Amino acid sequence: RAKEMGRDHYAFFTERMGNDIRARLAMQRQMRGAIARNEFEVHYQPQLCLRSGAMLGAEALLRWDNPVLGKVPPNLFIALAEEYGLITAIGEWVLDTVCAQIRDWQAAGLGSIKVAVNLSGKQFAQDRTVPFVEATLRKYGLDPSCLGIEITESTVMGDPDKAVAALTSLKDIGVSISLDDFGTGYSSLGYLKRFPIDVLKIDKSFVDDVTTSSSDAAIALSVISLAHNLHMRVIAEGVETREQVDFLTRHGCDEMQGYYFSRPLAVDAFTALLREQGPFCVI
Ligand code: C2E
Ligand code: MG
Ligand code: MG
Ligand code: MG
Repeated sequence: RAKEMGRDHYAFFTERMGNDIRARLAMQRQMRGAIARNEFEVHYQPQLCLRSGAMLGAEALLRWDNPVLGKVPPNLFIALAEEYGLITAIGEWVLDTVCAQIRDWQAAGLGSIKVAVNLSGKQFAQDRTVPFVEATLRKYGLDPSCLGIEITESTVMGDPDKAVAALTSLKDIGVSISLDDFGTGYSSLGYLKRFPIDVLKIDKSFVDDVTTSSSDAAIALSVISLAHNLHMRVIAEGVETREQVDFLTRHGCDEMQGYYFSRPLAVDAFTALLREQGPFCVI
């Protein structure tokens, strides 16, 4: 009976795996043509100064809407794009689209908004990434200070020496570097010394309960003072309530990003926000 059950379990498992593999193959097939079919879109989430309420910039977040698969969550399709070797093409499309958009906002007299783009570790492993960033900034005639790059600890863990070299080149160009999801990775604090980081982003998981959990509050405060002692700025991500805003402001956090102020917005909605407030206006 146990054997039978074991067999059932095995059959069940392989069947599910089979489905899973088919699902993955379908996704891979759809993803290959997605850029050409114009299925990707970049959304922009405002980043605000906690002292003045000024909108200092935005994070670019990729969206994929496929006719067969529907809206696929970024956490899922980015991981698969990395696995299928498609992340470089997709990542380069994002950089080009964001730089073209910054140029359009500037041309429309909407100021020099600064946009941070998430970079995958797989992109970092390739020598073409830094020259591509440089060439794209030049293509659209942008000052490199308009662009930021967001990396995670795991992005750089694969090949730390290569990552240091790539980040240093980007920093030399004038692109700023943010360390995303800070506190959730496995790397050591020593990385903060080795990498030329401008901004630490306090992960949402610590922000969620920052006003109700004394340990999350302690972690948030430690990240804020760590950042400031290392002459970095600090952004809280996933800020959803007035209480979180008050807590973070009171404790010297520099910037925030989250649904409390705005979800990531499609270009038209973000442009309307820029028009309404101007890039340097108050909440
Ligand atoms: P991330 O870089 O940490 O981005 C922040 C995520 O938190 C975004 O999810 C954003 O929509 C969400 N978020 C922001 N504020 C709030 C809030 O107040 N509440 C809640 N519940 N969520 C909030 P999203 O857009 O689903 O992206 C997920 C992840 O996918 C990103 O995490 C990033 O790692 C990756 N990603 C997105 N776009 C790109 C891209 O162009 N390239 C690469 N390599 N990765 C990307
Ligand atoms: Mg990010
Ligand atoms: Mg993040
Ligand atoms: Mg995150």
